[in-house]
Amino acid sequence: MEYWEKEIETMPRNGLRFLQLARLNTTLEAAVRSSYYGGLAKRDRSFRTRVGEVAELQDFPFTTKQDLRDHFPYGFLSLPTKEIIRLHSSSGTTGNPTVIYHNRHDIASWANLMARSLFCAGVRDTDVFQNIVGYGLFTGGLGFQYGIERLGALSIPAGAGNSLRQIKLMRDYGTTAIHAIPSYLGRLLEVFREEGLDPRTDTSLRMLVIGAEPHTEEQRQRIQEMYGVKAFNSFGLSEMNGPGVAFECEFQQGLHIWEDAYVVEIIDPATLEPVPDGEYGELVMTTLDREANPLIRYRTRDITRIIPGECPCGRTHRRIDRITGRSDDMFIIKGCNIFPMQIEGVLLRVPEVGDDYRITIDTVAGQDDMIVEVEVKKEWFRGDLQFLDALQKRITRLIRDEVLVSPVVRLVEPGSIPKAEGKAVRVFDKRIR
Ligand code: ADP
Ligand code: ZN
Repeated sequence: MEYWEKEIETMPRNGLRFLQLARLNTTLEAAVRSSYYGGLAKRDRSFRTRVGEVAELQDFPFTTKQDLRDHFPYGFLSLPTKEIIRLHSSSGTTGNPTVIYHNRHDIASWANLMARSLFCAGVRDTDVFQNIVGYGLFTGGLGFQYGIERLGALSIPAGAGNSLRQIKLMRDYGTTAIHAIPSYLGRLLEVFREEGLDPRTDTSLRMLVIGAEPHTEEQRQRIQEMYGVKAFNSFGLSEMNGPGVAFECEFQQGLHIWEDAYVVEIIDPATLEPVPDGEYGELVMTTLDREANPLIRYRTRDITRIIPGECPCGRTHRRIDRITGRSDDMFIIKGCNIFPMQIEGVLLRVPEVGDDYRITIDTVAGQDDMIVEVEVKKEWFRGDLQFLDALQKRITRLIRDEVLVSPVVRLVEPGSIPKAEGKAVRVFDKRIR
């Protein structure tokens, strides 16, 4: 087995705990230099600058996205602005922006985590790596860029969109690996087909990295079939740098979360108490290697679990399961809690279902309805009304069995659901409240 940093990646758990403790104390001292944590430490005695054990973090208050927004733009900054060399701000999918600042050390540390992540998934310095996501404030662009360069592969900073050009770049330079958001790869495949090309035979691709948005195992399987190569899951969020937080290794059995750089907790979002390993809850993270903008017990709102047991790759950093959604993605209809990924899982197990779907919740005649629009593959979307009617009934039944609410299913033509610019938006809640 090859590693980017063997000593750290395979460090025995108790060694890792010592390293975490030392870094945590350094981080807490840095944190109180910010006006937010400085003020908090004065008000709230549970916030200390020295702990004897990492587990003592559980007495500390949480930091939330709302805290970041309320103290925008400088409240969490721990260093004079002169020391800062870059900022990233989140895409604001769910509200006002938040900002994270980095000094030279932070950028180098992030680039190294990213290189380690890519190496862990199997990228090598002999690869030609095309990064098909937006550059700029979105962390997926520069985050990957610095990691690919640190690793020493040939980087193609392609940016998002313009599928024809993406395909040309792939073919001109013999791209062997790409990074893209999963919802884009279906569209890209359509363009391959329109050009009479098949990525399985007409490119040199040997692997894909997919991430930045929730997707199901079913969607991963479809992507792997379409491109004929393995697709590795990449997880991160701007508040924790961006990509390079957790990544799949070659075994694709969960994502190693880098515990030399983060303290990881999974809590019950209702009681805020820790849940046992193996159970789902909200991911809470503390930075351990960031100087400009440390965050303590940050509530990511992402729902996942720790996968119990050891990974055959020998890395000792624990694995999280794929994110099933954000706690704020969940919607409640007719008393049932539903995550969009549950519906995606059902839909993508139906072979006739195409690339896209959209969920709208609306009040019709005083009653809440869940309308699921589903694209049907071209070869099935023909004049055979009897067939489409049976398909519609089948999908309705499958969704109802999964989420216990009967949906209104509408089968639509392939390509007819409008695409979001960046990350896919799956749910539109039009209810009158
Ligand atoms: P925004 O919060 O505006 O979308 P970010 O770019 O910081 O901005 O997005 C981070 C979020 O994207 C994560 O908190 C998570 O919800 C989602 N995400 C990132 N990577 C993955 C992944 N591999 N699987 C599922 N969700 C992901
Ligand atoms: Zn592994």
